[in-house]
Amino acid sequence: MKNSNETIENLVIIGGGPTGYTAGIYASRAALNPTIFAGYQAGGQLMLTTDVENFPGFPEGILGPKLMDEFRLQAEKFGSKIFNEDVIGLDLTQHPYVVKTYDKEIKTHSIIIATGASAKWLDLENEKELIGSGLSSCATCDGAFFKDANIAVVGGGDSAMEEALFLTKYARKVTLIHRRSEFRASKIMATRVMKHPKIEIIWDTIVTKYLYEKDGFISKLTGIHLKNVNTNEVTEMDLDGLFMAIGHIPNTDFLPDVISKTSEGYLETNIHTMTNIDGVFAAGDVVDTRYRQAITAAADGCKSAIDAEKWLSENEIID
Ligand code: NAP
Repeated sequence: MKNSNETIENLVIIGGGPTGYTAGIYASRAALNPTIFAGYQAGGQLMLTTDVENFPGFPEGILGPKLMDEFRLQAEKFGSKIFNEDVIGLDLTQHPYVVKTYDKEIKTHSIIIATGASAKWLDLENEKELIGSGLSSCATCDGAFFKDANIAVVGGGDSAMEEALFLTKYARKVTLIHRRSEFRASKIMATRVMKHPKIEIIWDTIVTKYLYEKDGFISKLTGIHLKNVNTNEVTEMDLDGLFMAIGHIPNTDFLPDVISKTSEGYLETNIHTMTNIDGVFAAGDVVDTRYRQAITAAADGCKSAIDAEKWLSENEIID
C-alpha cells in the first residue's frame, strides 16, 4: 500500500468539535497529516454555549466558540487540513475506504468518526434565538448563570433528574415538567428528585410556547405556556430559564449499516476506540451516553488518534 501512486490519506477525521480537533492535534503531531471534515457548522455543541467555566486551564472561563477556534488553530498549527464540509457518506466495503462530501471523494486508510450528538429540542417557535438567552440543554455548562433564579427542566429521564438536581445548587426553585405521570428515569434518581425540597414536579404536561421579551436585537426568555395533556388546559408560567433534557440524537445517520450501532444510534467500539470495522474509530459524544463534557470529548479524541496511529503502524501503512 505504501508504494501506490494514488493519493491515499492516512487518516480522515469526521467532526469539528472538541473530539475531532483534539484527534487532529494528536494525529498531526504524529505526522499522520490528517484531513478533518469539520462540518458545515463546525465547532459542535460548544457553539451553542456562552461562557465555558469548567474547561481546565481557563480560570476566568472562555466563550464556547472562542474555545473551539483555539482548538482548531492548534490542530492547523501542526498540519491538520481542515474543511468545513459535511461528510455525506462512506464506502467501507473496500480498503482504502472512501469518504464522500458534496465536493470531494477521498481515499483513506483509517477514519475517526467524531460527529457528536445533538440535544433534542421541542421545535417551538423562536427556539433558535432563545438558545443561550434563557434556553439551555446543559445544566453543567449554564447552571451557574441562574443563581437565585426560577427555572424549569423538561424531561423524565435520568438526564432530566440529573439536570434538575444539579440546578438546585443555584436556583431558587426548579420545576420539572414531564409529559407523562411516571418517570422513565432510574428509581434512585427519581426518588432524589421527588424528595428534594426545591423541586416541584408538574406531570402530564408539555411546553407549547416560549414567552420572551426583546432588548434591541436580543431576545430573552421570560416564561412559557404549559398544556395539561389530559385536560388540554393551558397555563402560563414565569421563568428565568428553561433546560431541555429530552434526550440526544447521535449524528450517525450518514453512516452505512455495516458499522455497529446501539438501538439508539450511538456507535459501538470493540477494541479501545475502534469500531467493528478495522481502522475505523469512533470517539466523543457519538459513542458516549454518559459524560458528554467538552473535556471528556477532547480526551476521547486523543485516545482515538493514538489508536489510529498504532493501527496504521501495526498494519505497516506507516513506518
Ligand atoms: P431518555 O432516557 O431518552 O429520556 C428522555 C426523556 O425526555 C423521557 O422522559 C421522554 O419522555 C422525554 N421526552 C422525549 N421527547 C420529548 C418531547 N418532545 N417532549 C417532552 N418530553 C420528551 O434520555 P436521557 O435522560 O438523556 O438519558 C439517555 C441515556 O443516558 C439513558 O440510558 C439514561 O439512563 C442515561 N443517563 C444516565 C445517567 C446516570 O446514570 N447518571 C445520567 C444521564 C443519562 P417519555 O418518558 O414520555 O418518553
